[in-house]
Amino acid sequence: MTWRLGTLAGIAVYMHPTFLLLLAFVAWQHWRIGQSMAAVASGVAFILALFGCVVLHEFGHALTARRFGIRTKDITLLPIGGVARLERMPDDPVQELWVALAGPAVNVVIAAVLYAWLSAASAFAPIEQVDVVQGPFLERLMLVNVFLVAFNMLPAFPMDGGRVVRALLATRMEYTKATQVATALGQSMAFLFGLLGLLSGNPMLIFIALFVWVGATQEASVVQIRSALGGIPVSRAMITEFHTLAPEDPLSLAVEYLLRGTQQDFPVMVEGQVVGVLALRDLQVALGQRGEAGVVGDVMRRDVPVVDAHDMLDSAFQTLQATGARVGAVTREGRVVGLVTLDNVGEFVMVQSSLDAHHRRHPTG
Ligand code: ZN
Repeated sequence: MTWRLGTLAGIAVYMHPTFLLLLAFVAWQHWRIGQSMAAVASGVAFILALFGCVVLHEFGHALTARRFGIRTKDITLLPIGGVARLERMPDDPVQELWVALAGPAVNVVIAAVLYAWLSAASAFAPIEQVDVVQGPFLERLMLVNVFLVAFNMLPAFPMDGGRVVRALLATRMEYTKATQVATALGQSMAFLFGLLGLLSGNPMLIFIALFVWVGATQEASVVQIRSALGGIPVSRAMITEFHTLAPEDPLSLAVEYLLRGTQQDFPVMVEGQVVGVLALRDLQVALGQRGEAGVVGDVMRRDVPVVDAHDMLDSAFQTLQATGARVGAVTREGRVVGLVTLDNVGEFVMVQSSLDAHHRRHPTG
């Protein structure tokens, strides 16, 4: 259950009811310390300003994603921060990098503007007199934005920094390998934080360590492989080398392709558009009935599932299963760029789990 706060730039912003608990907690804390309604009002105003910055951070992600043609379902405020639900992640690592960086970049800008303002007004209080509950409002807000940048840029999932690291790695290695390296980095960091937290008795560090560990482990676990299908765009597992047929081609051409290579299903194209698919089973039946002189257009299936190269593998998989088709066409801006088959997705999952097993045995390799 969430409450709708409003819509900004076409994106609905929601608030989780537990957010009110946080406000109540802050109000109570300030009442305890300040014993005045003014203290309570300033404490609540500060949390609202802080979450205003968090919303702007999420809009940084959402509006950058929009530039790459990716919509955002909604933005939700939780007591632990904000979540922008993007329709999908970009399949280009460079785009993922920009989307991940855009959130923290917003907080950098806010902090810089506040710094300039405070400098111009000479309104800085000595740093030792400033913390989350005391000091000039705008200076605290500036410091909190600096903290938001630092926290979000920790190079570990589920933070933006983890995505930045993976995107940078993915420009020079395979996507899932990049995910595994980024995950290992996140876990080492969580371990370090946990150790520091225990040694220094700092509960905040231990909390961050747990948060990062859970996030990193989620990214790595075997269960994650299945849901990792959801995080991997079709374009990374599609067949890009394949023969196509035209409706007027004779079946003998399909037989030739079939015997020469390993392809069993052939998309039938007219002017770059898929109009059907000739599957192995249909070819067998048609050969028996019409011989090699039969024409592709007469025996092909016309109900070809079409998935976008940006779609995630799990939804492509579901589409194939739902339609009972063995093969689907992958398009990008309307043009066919690949094929996706159940066999191929199966092979992809197999490769992933082998790599995963390899990484469990050789964590550094
Ligand atoms: Zn973010």
